[in-house]
Amino acid sequence: MKILVVEDERKIAGFLSRGLGEEGHRVDVAVDLAAARSAVDAADYDLLLVDRMLPDGDGLSLVRELRRRKIDIPAICLTARDRVEERVEGLSGGADDYLVKPFAFEELLARISAVTRRRPGTDVIEVADLEIDPGARRVHRAEREIRLTAREFDLLRYLAENTGRVLSRTRLLEAVWDTTHDPGTNTVDVYVSYLRAKVDKGASRPLIHTVRGVGYVLEDRPR
Ligand code: CA
Repeated sequence: MKILVVEDERKIAGFLSRGLGEEGHRVDVAVDLAAARSAVDAADYDLLLVDRMLPDGDGLSLVRELRRRKIDIPAICLTARDRVEERVEGLSGGADDYLVKPFAFEELLARISAVTRRRPGTDVIEVADLEIDPGARRVHRAEREIRLTAREFDLLRYLAENTGRVLSRTRLLEAVWDTTHDPGTNTVDVYVSYLRAKVDKGASRPLIHTVRGVGYVLEDRPR
């Protein structure tokens, strides 16, 4: 893959380009937002690793800007900040994942394969005994067909495309309702409860989990 590392700390940038180079990736380094913007405009990257504290601003603003321009390169934010609100801010700002410094290189590799694997498409998505066919817009759980409304389907698909990733309500509103303002009252929570009643009720185990104070995650948590 071609990876752009946006990082002003030389030691970290060096460590990342060496390590990712050894994994067979081609790595460019941008030391500030301005350099990162020109790099993204000049070449096609498969992944961005973006530090949040850069000399000319917050790395997250670059990710936001790209998402506004409908540029969908997977992005992982790197940061020394580790408060939950900032994690949520990163995810709702369009970053695909978040890694708190210092991190183990193995952890970074795992996140990279996760975000680059989870690209939206038309392939059938399988999570445990749940099967979602985005082309036919059909859902099965343990071979049984589940009937969903269009909105319920979009929400389930988005959760499943992001399996294992905690999604904030804001992120879900943006992705599924295409708005940052709640069109009703607790719209996301209401729809998640509809989905749970159809997808998880009576199933071997729940796949939709609440992460208190943050949002929701769809994942298989074997007992
Ligand atoms: Ca920095």
